[in-house]
Amino acid sequence: MMIPKATENTYEVAADQLVKIIKNGPNKAGQTPDRLPSRETLVKTHEQNLKLLAEGNVPIRNIILPRPYPPSRVNLEDSAFEKVLLKHVRIDERKPKAIGIFRAVTAPYVYSSTTTVIEDEEGHVAKLTVGNLEDSPVDPIVTENATFVVKQPCWSRLGESNYHIRVDHPSDLVLLEPGNRLIPKTWRQKEGGIATKDAAQWKKEGDMMFLKKKFRKALKLYNKGLRVLSDASDPTAEIDLYRKRCGVNIVLLRLDDAANDLSKAISIHAKSSPDLSSSQLADQSTIHSWLNNRSTEDPLEIASKVPRALKELATRVKFDLGIEQSSPVYDIPLISSYVGPLSLHVDVANYTCDTEVRDTASQGRGLYAKKSFRANDIISAEKAFVLPGYFMQDKGSDCLLYSLHDETAAPRPGAWLFKELVQKLRWNPSLRKEFFSLDDGGYWKECGWEIAEDEDVPVDVFRVEFIRRYNSFSAPTRSADLLNQPPNANPELRNGFWTHSSYSNHSCLPNAIRTFMGDIRFMRATRDIEAGEEITTQYVSPDIDIDARQEKFRNTWGFECTCELCTLEGKLGKDTKEARLRHFEELKSMVMKLGEKGTTVTSIKKIARGVRELEALYTPTGEGEPDPYAKFPRLALVHPTLFLTEAWRGVKNYDRMMDCAYKLLRNFGIIVSVEDDKFSVVNNVGMINVETVRALKYLSEGFAVKEETALRDQVLDTARSWYLTITGAENDFEEFMKL
Ligand SMILES: [Zn+2]
Repeated sequence: MMIPKATENTYEVAADQLVKIIKNGPNKAGQTPDRLPSRETLVKTHEQNLKLLAEGNVPIRNIILPRPYPPSRVNLEDSAFEKVLLKHVRIDERKPKAIGIFRAVTAPYVYSSTTTVIEDEEGHVAKLTVGNLEDSPVDPIVTENATFVVKQPCWSRLGESNYHIRVDHPSDLVLLEPGNRLIPKTWRQKEGGIATKDAAQWKKEGDMMFLKKKFRKALKLYNKGLRVLSDASDPTAEIDLYRKRCGVNIVLLRLDDAANDLSKAISIHAKSSPDLSSSQLADQSTIHSWLNNRSTEDPLEIASKVPRALKELATRVKFDLGIEQSSPVYDIPLISSYVGPLSLHVDVANYTCDTEVRDTASQGRGLYAKKSFRANDIISAEKAFVLPGYFMQDKGSDCLLYSLHDETAAPRPGAWLFKELVQKLRWNPSLRKEFFSLDDGGYWKECGWEIAEDEDVPVDVFRVEFIRRYNSFSAPTRSADLLNQPPNANPELRNGFWTHSSYSNHSCLPNAIRTFMGDIRFMRATRDIEAGEEITTQYVSPDIDIDARQEKFRNTWGFECTCELCTLEGKLGKDTKEARLRHFEELKSMVMKLGEKGTTVTSIKKIARGVRELEALYTPTGEGEPDPYAKFPRLALVHPTLFLTEAWRGVKNYDRMMDCAYKLLRNFGIIVSVEDDKFSVVNNVGMINVETVRALKYLSEGFAVKEETALRDQVLDTARSWYLTITGAENDFEEFMKL
């Protein structure tokens, strides 16, 4: 291989390049590469790339997922594996029992993935690429001289005579601690140094690393401190070190380890305090199960019996693992005021107990109401399993997640969610079962294996990605913020993951709506719901054209909508569908042209005529024929009617404005009545949204002009409650009504 020019970063291969290589390259599966670069070439290239990285000479991050393959099942404990050297490794061939033991001979290059040069026991070298690590250049994982196992190593092609060994699943790379019996004799170093420092010194060094945000180094140093202490009896120092390590583990999303550390700390505390030594607090397993039981209760009164620092950590761990409360009571204004771009994580308990996951007739599993709800009630509230926090404006956090097998690329929000999901699952076996129960599109059934009840579910990164695609949500920092943005602002939304709520299926006529406030996802009823009814939300607002919307559902989520509206419109003739669309497009271009000339009463009347013609396409022609749309939305009419409402408002024709506002509601399937000074909603198919709130706003203005204050107030009350339904908070309602 030629040594490339020093200005060219050869480690950041563009995804489309890789696709070409995979598609067009010769199939050499099972063979050994013809030529491999020498150690000098590999190391020199590596150093050049390190230098370019240090100079900031890199494109945007490209996380690459190759073609799916399951993680290795090799168990290093049971010796039923076969050690292989680089000379045994083949192209694209993962031998079931093979493991390679390697040593890194260079400092790692950490960017899109981690790349380093490795050698085997015989001194043969290779380029190693490790994907999906959580490392950073300041806190690397595969450091120089580290020894580790790569399970099922194989060569992957990167170009002409350019091969590397790549690891994608976290469990396929196992770092070996000094003294591990798998480390070849010639690589073993004399253990030393440990006894020369005491626990306090290790702790101090750990604290230093923590402050420098080198969390993995801090973890290692606290480990050393705890090892020194294990034969001494200094409970205060031990509690302190466990507490520190618990803190680092929380930062690193290792909640299972954090819970272990904390239960040890609390148990040691109890054993060493005379009045607690005989209590349940001294039993580590009791504390551990309390930390994991997701309950708000504290039967052991831990809060009053342990020092504040431990108590605070316990709260942290419990919230991060998830707590349940039995009622939908939340201090919404407080939460809303706390949440911002830099404070997404809110310490509240989940409320999921009044909904349950069950099989549906035709849409896989779904979410069902266990009790009845009134319109606007909170149905569930759930903290995100993962909601990545990064700076939207930060160019440095830009990245793409590229899946080679279907040649798709997820932009930054999806890429970050994927990265964090892998980490959270990797370190917390206790949370895996729940996550991996979600729909992966059949991937694991096809590629994976049976998992026993008590077995840890492996973190297969390809499966994580399938589950992410089918089950994640785009989320604003606060749903209310979306309403206050200038039109066409199109802000970047984060991608987050909510396990329980993601079971809710789509319906174009939903009975619930999702809103976000930081990492909490609320679901509220858009109409009254009976106990036992399925809870549905709109994944996206439905396309006017039935064929276009079904295609979107099929392509994005792999289902067809069977809601009443889709059932009704699925039976429409081609001519009707085309006529409606054509009319809609004509109206749209008329409105666009108006924009240039300005609106006059004559032009509004012209559009009103067009809207009546479109309306006729929804109305039965035969005498006495029932109206199939009597209770259903007429989607093509929504935008034209909204335009008319606002146009009449613009020329201060309030009677016409109100007529159109009623029509607007009706076109969403919401029929209201005004009788004897009483305003009421007679039919509501659940399509509550910002336009329906707007319709109410215009109605209230109309009643105000007519000095019908009682009606105005009733309309305002409904508007306020719908505003709360769609935004999750009442903040800025007055502001919205003024615009
Ligand atoms: Zn539908």
